[in-house]
Amino acid sequence: MRLLVLLALLLCSCSHGTENLYERSFYSMGSTVKLKFYSPSEELFHRVVDACVKRTKEIDRLFSNYRDDSVLAEVNRNAGVAPVSVPTEFLRLVRTSIKYSELTEGAFDITIGSLFELWGTETKAGRLPGRSRIRDALGCTGFRKIKIDEVKSQVFLDGDCVRLDFGAIGKGYAVDEMVNIARQNGIKRGLVNFGGNIYAMDPPAGKKFWDVGVRKPGSGSEIISKLDLVDKGVATSGDYERYFEHDGKRYSHIIDPRTGWPAEDVTSVVAVSKTATEADIFSTAVSVLGPRGAKMFARKDKSLGFLVVWKSGKKKSCFGSYACP
Ligand code: ADP
Ligand code: MG
Repeated sequence: MRLLVLLALLLCSCSHGTENLYERSFYSMGSTVKLKFYSPSEELFHRVVDACVKRTKEIDRLFSNYRDDSVLAEVNRNAGVAPVSVPTEFLRLVRTSIKYSELTEGAFDITIGSLFELWGTETKAGRLPGRSRIRDALGCTGFRKIKIDEVKSQVFLDGDCVRLDFGAIGKGYAVDEMVNIARQNGIKRGLVNFGGNIYAMDPPAGKKFWDVGVRKPGSGSEIISKLDLVDKGVATSGDYERYFEHDGKRYSHIIDPRTGWPAEDVTSVVAVSKTATEADIFSTAVSVLGPRGAKMFARKDKSLGFLVVWKSGKKKSCFGSYACP
């Protein structure tokens, strides 16, 4: 018996002892993916990263709105015209998106495409969208306009101006997929960061968690909050990196699907959740709903936590599992 215990201890320390930290970055969907994995070999590490690169290309091919040959582009082109047969994975993420639209009172809604396009083109042309155009684009918005045929695996957008946009879920989803690939290959300790959408896996040996720094809105590198994370996803949404500008006023690139206007109340939201997908979704939803939304979501699900930075830039509030700095 004592020998067995000794043997187990030896085996255990061997596998930990030979794990090293490897890091590699690559570019995908307009952002950098940074991968840190503890791996027993460099060869395995690179094999896993190569699989992650391949996976993000597949995801881009399905959900990108920057390329004409994505499945998303085909679904949008056929809006109001015909149902489109889509891969199971596409259908699954549409279904997930609808579920979270229902859960967030419509604050997160992938039919935001028309409104997003309108705000983008109008502000670039130096004007704000007129009220009637906002009203028209609102008529093209609403998750109930997405019709799914489960049996035929088809998606139909009910209205020729309805446009899907996965901008508030795609990167978080890709992070979770990369974590799955790592785990399937026996890698348990690591940190995946895709343009600020993060998942912290098991911590480095001898550590209790990963230290993740949250950047101050608008500043390049100043850290406003540190998070101790294990098996958690984090995402930040804000009006400080991507935004529309008109007459010197900054409008958030997050739009309230209920009013058609950019989110107003908060500068940035950090969301912590069980998955990177959820963190991505909830950071956007709380940007729309403000602190009321953060309070409501954190009460329903104890694993959720939020840091909300108000527009004034001075006030910060924390909700749920997020311990305020
Ligand atoms: P970031 O792009 O800074 O990571 P988000 O994850 O919040 O921020 O995603 C914002 C993007 O999501 C926008 O660029 C747009 O494509 C889309 N979007 C904007 N408003 C909404 C909304 N209310 N619901 C769903 N998607 C949205
Ligand atoms: Mg988001």
